[in-house]
Amino acid sequence: MVLIMRDMKRIYLDHAASMPVDPRVLQFAQPYLSEVGNPSSLYEFGQHAKQIIEDSRRKIAEFINAESEKTIIFTGSATESNNIAIRGTALRNKNDGTEILASAIEHISVLNPMKDLQKNGWVFRTIPVDSYGIVDLHQLSALLSKNTIVTSINYGNNEIGTIEPIKKISEIVHDKGKYLHVDGKAAAGRIPIDVQAEGIDLLTLSSNDLYGPKGAGVLYIKPGVKVQSIMPGGGQERGLRSGTENIFAIAGMGEACVIAKKEMKSESNRLQNIRDKLISEIKVIEETYLTGHPVNRLPHHASFRISHIEGESILLSMDMYNIQVATGSACSSKTLEPSHVLLAIGLKHEEAHGSMVMTLGRSNTISQVPEIVKAVKETVVRLRNLSPLK
Ligand code: PMP
Repeated sequence: MVLIMRDMKRIYLDHAASMPVDPRVLQFAQPYLSEVGNPSSLYEFGQHAKQIIEDSRRKIAEFINAESEKTIIFTGSATESNNIAIRGTALRNKNDGTEILASAIEHISVLNPMKDLQKNGWVFRTIPVDSYGIVDLHQLSALLSKNTIVTSINYGNNEIGTIEPIKKISEIVHDKGKYLHVDGKAAAGRIPIDVQAEGIDLLTLSSNDLYGPKGAGVLYIKPGVKVQSIMPGGGQERGLRSGTENIFAIAGMGEACVIAKKEMKSESNRLQNIRDKLISEIKVIEETYLTGHPVNRLPHHASFRISHIEGESILLSMDMYNIQVATGSACSSKTLEPSHVLLAIGLKHEEAHGSMVMTLGRSNTISQVPEIVKAVKETVVRLRNLSPLK
């Protein structure tokens, strides 16, 4: 029988879904929840708000080694940044070509805008990945043409943790096509991203994935890249993202980037140790397999497929131990379809249903590993005993 131990301390392992706001970020940004004017207003009170935004822009530009702070556009989320990157470049450059590409394991906030453009005449193709989720570079090259306006690739995959060879991808994309958009939501803050050294034209970032407040995202746009507004309005953010700015979240995101830049190396090393211990102890459970790349993977990311049981049942069972994990299957789209990411790496439908994803963060310690592993083992035994799938 499972013990329901709610008084036991929570072990939160779903940092890809939501991260707590760092108390230092909160302390820095909290005054801006109530004390600022509209940055578009010319009086001093408004201009103070504008200054807060510009300070944050500078911090974020430094975080990704952007050419200047002018390359940083604030949005409301990674979804919005992805939409502006894809629709904005496709629409603005349609006289140069109407082909668009994305890897088969992109997030739906990349794939859906591309599918939408496809309905309106653009030619949308997906680039296959290997069984670890690495983009097939030969296929990428074969699919590219001078008519390919934007190619979108995840820096690190949120579901299987695989890190893509972005510099190589950039060289291939620029050999034939026009722009490389990189969704950096899952990778930023875990591994360094240098937009200039890696040849990135457009980069998506999200505040909450850096322990900043929800409600702010960024789109980096390299100087010279042509993007058009997809939401006309008051003309904020160089006309690319109209709407009154969320000063609190923007200020918090800038500060979160300063902290991430300072602490990323040591924190990622610490998380990688915990991750490696988790992987080595969980993958020896019978018919349990690591998904994603064993080496080129995000340091905080451990993902598995467990035969004969359902990801949702795993998630709910682990929650009874007060351990929160995610499952790659079904839930994001609220359908019973298995995850497109797991299918793209070659899993069968029934295999893709048994997915468990753990994403570590600042609250996790190596001393939690035995408790986590024990909960997984007990979960697997109990669910397999109940399972009609075995
Ligand atoms: N990109 C990636 C890689 C994601 O994992 C997600 C959400 N999990 C998004 C984009 C969309 O982020 P948001 O819902 O914050 O807009």
